[in-house]
Amino acid sequence: NADSSMYMAKEGGRNKVFIYSNEMQEKRVATMELANQLHNALNKGEFVLHYQPIMDLKNEVITGLEALIRWQHPQKGLISPVEFIPIAENTGLIHQINLWVLKTACLQKKQWDANSPYPLKLSINFSCKSFEYPDLADEIQKILDQTQTNPAEIQLEITETTFLKNIELGTEIIKKLREKGISIALDDFGTGYSSLTYLINLPIDVVKLDRDFIKYIGERTENEIIVKAVVQLAQALGIKVVAEGIESKEQLYFLKSIGCDECQGYYFSKPYPPYVIEEQIKILSS
Ligand code: C2E
Ligand code: MG
Ligand code: MG
Ligand code: MG
Repeated sequence: NADSSMYMAKEGGRNKVFIYSNEMQEKRVATMELANQLHNALNKGEFVLHYQPIMDLKNEVITGLEALIRWQHPQKGLISPVEFIPIAENTGLIHQINLWVLKTACLQKKQWDANSPYPLKLSINFSCKSFEYPDLADEIQKILDQTQTNPAEIQLEITETTFLKNIELGTEIIKKLREKGISIALDDFGTGYSSLTYLINLPIDVVKLDRDFIKYIGERTENEIIVKAVVQLAQALGIKVVAEGIESKEQLYFLKSIGCDECQGYYFSKPYPPYVIEEQIKILSS
């Protein structure tokens, strides 16, 4: 194929042939380019945070906000975290990014809390690579001190799939954080492997049901049965349940009917930059 470059690699006595098409090659180059630019993005102040309201299902009022990072690229525009967080995880940049997000969101929270009827809980996605740093709990404490943030109003979201690597150290850090009053949420529940094992063994406060579970509510009875069972199981274990990706009234009613604790999704609000969220908070808190 004249359009492809071919590479031969000898591995374990076997010949393996990899064929990279031009398209794959271009994708690799683009990824490398992003990786190089990502290095300076933090210093250049190119990251921005959007926030999505988290709603209490019983009273349908806002209880908190999830911070969601975006990269305001000078040429490419707003880049989704799905595109650059995996790169940051592979290059080790993720730890700095995680800490930056925490600090920035804590400062933002202070402004909102000054104007809202009650303090709003802040949810931060913390890539599990950070849980390989033994000093993580101290680093987080330092940021909370600097920004005068109440640890009881902070929730860290972790995903089970990336937690597999160093489960002992990770669990130890989680315990330290919980002793400080910080909540831990297991994000994207149901998408990885051995989910139930994690639910039972990790010392967590909250589980977030992935949108993949939620989106077929009202369409597939099987999904409704699973969601109901998971909510009951988690609550029996003393774990609060947040449903992700609520887009319809049917989904809302179903989740209310089974006693799910909280939810977030486009039905209530998309993630928005701070100046829009300020208005959303006013609407959703009364
Ligand atoms: P996540 O933590 O599970 O975040 C939920 C994602 O679902 C967000 O995508 C959100 O915009 C989207 N979403 C919320 N409600 C709905 C809905 O009703 N319908 C649909 N279709 N989507 C909905 P986003 O912002 O693109 O973030 C994607 C992922 O990137 C996050 O998944 C999280 O794993 C990661 N991420 C985002 N921000 C950060 C960050 O600050 N640090 C780290 N380490 N990871 C982050
Ligand atoms: Mg999350
Ligand atoms: Mg999630
Ligand atoms: Mg997700």
